[in-house]
Amino acid sequence: MAITATNIAPNMVRSVNPATGDLIRELQCASDRDIYAAVSNARSAQAKWASLGLRDRIAILHEFQNLLHKRKSAVAEAITRETGKPFAEALTTEVLVVLDSARFLIENAFRLLSDEPVPHGNIAAKLKRGRLLREPYGVIGIIAPWNYPFSIPATESLAALVAGNAVLLKPSEFTSLVALELQSLLHAAGVPAGIFQVVVGDGATGAALVHSQIDKLIFTGSVQTGKRIAAAAAPRLLPVVLELGGKDPMLVLDDADVDVASSGAVWGAFMNAGQTCLSVERCYAHRNLYEKFLQACVAKTRTLRVGNGMDPATDFGPMIHERQLRLVESHVEDAVSRGARLLIGGRRLPELGQNFYQPAVLADVNHEMRIMREETFGPVLPVMPFDTDEEVIALANDSEYGLAASIWTRNKEHGEKMARRIHAGTVMVNDVVSCFGISEAPHGGVKSSGLGRTHGRFGLEEMVKLKYVDSDLMPAMKKVWWYGYGASFALHMQGFIDFQFASNWREQLRGVLASAGVLRSKRL
Ligand code: NAD
Repeated sequence: MAITATNIAPNMVRSVNPATGDLIRELQCASDRDIYAAVSNARSAQAKWASLGLRDRIAILHEFQNLLHKRKSAVAEAITRETGKPFAEALTTEVLVVLDSARFLIENAFRLLSDEPVPHGNIAAKLKRGRLLREPYGVIGIIAPWNYPFSIPATESLAALVAGNAVLLKPSEFTSLVALELQSLLHAAGVPAGIFQVVVGDGATGAALVHSQIDKLIFTGSVQTGKRIAAAAAPRLLPVVLELGGKDPMLVLDDADVDVASSGAVWGAFMNAGQTCLSVERCYAHRNLYEKFLQACVAKTRTLRVGNGMDPATDFGPMIHERQLRLVESHVEDAVSRGARLLIGGRRLPELGQNFYQPAVLADVNHEMRIMREETFGPVLPVMPFDTDEEVIALANDSEYGLAASIWTRNKEHGEKMARRIHAGTVMVNDVVSCFGISEAPHGGVKSSGLGRTHGRFGLEEMVKLKYVDSDLMPAMKKVWWYGYGASFALHMQGFIDFQFASNWREQLRGVLASAGVLRSKRL
């Protein structure tokens, strides 16, 4: 029987293999009461976890890394079973990314989370010592999507945990089992049960988590849900990080290597069946190489082996579900009806299963078409010609999204110069998507693509509250800026300001003389 939303029992979610349509398991959604209990367990366990100290938490992370390394194939298989992506992609874009993210935290978390001195430049504050403390929020909620069901929640959870937080993870309703696999690895590594808990469920469960007493939320998903979450978080000013959708442009400049750029385009548009937030969603190729580039993309697309991700020969698996497939079809139909040329693909492959779609290359698209404006999130490579750098920068920036972009050129300096002009959280020169696997690099967008960052130093900073502690070195001395104002104090202060900020030394010297004796002007 086909699995549809309508035959799912209330309060249940179903894990289904998108390649075969087989039901893997049905799971009960967490109720509001379950979420309340999970938050309260997390809160009681968190103080002890925080007091364990960074070195011990890093040791647990190390153990997690060892266990994941040992179970790499089993974890990748679980990912392929629930998402349909090729096993090799599950290994590289999920397991490897998480192993490396653990490596980054093991190597850097101690330094990045330790107290930091804050030297004072202001002369008036020289007799003070400042320190920056990074304290865990407490209980962090993570709501995750289905497209990278392991690497997204795991990288975020590791950062939250090492910083001393407890985590409640609400995975996508389509990929609960991968989340439970992450939970068992973390528990086996020594993370206490209350410190990492998976809350299984759908959108309503996610909404209940947002309304619970969590201290911060890291959300990854669509812009539409992100806006709902921001609105729900606003009344109590719940801090949120929003990692949302994208419409990432690929700019193929006139000096690009067509062979390299076309391989990058085909991989960047079609890996994970195009269901990647950082996918090439629109491509602009310089008119001088436009036709050659299109031909290369079509030829390479033709060689892709579409099939079950468990088969090691598969390059390209099924889409996650019918709804996503219909959206992709509607974008292709809209483009073709407005004059785009469909060069290859763009049709269902029912002989392989109900969610299979042949990757498509579209030429002669323009910004009137939905495929160039709305997130498609599927295996379509729409290509548009351009003539000048100015034109392609304007086209790239003509979008409500700003997650990432890529520029393809043999001139690295020129590519980097162009990168500065693109409105996006990340711009890659001569590569695409792989920035997500660079654990040092911050991940996140601008405009509708989101708020805040995950990964790297800035992702770790999102998991802590900054506290500034300042100690006065002369506790027995009343401060000159306290009460005791009056004409002479004002003159002293004018002199003090001139001493520091006047543009010539004579005025500065006069300032020193005028400010001398400021301490004597204190009455209180
Ligand atoms: P989605 O917004 O439908 O769902 C994401 C998560 O939110 C799921 O766990 C879902 O159950 C939950 N949810 C749904 N409604 C909710 C509500 N009202 N309150 C709280 N939680 C709710 O997105 P999706 O279809 O799972 O994922 C695809 C989208 O995610 C795409 O737009 C893609 O670009 C985006 N994405 C972004 C990034 C990034 O890092 N920027 C990464 C991956 C995916």
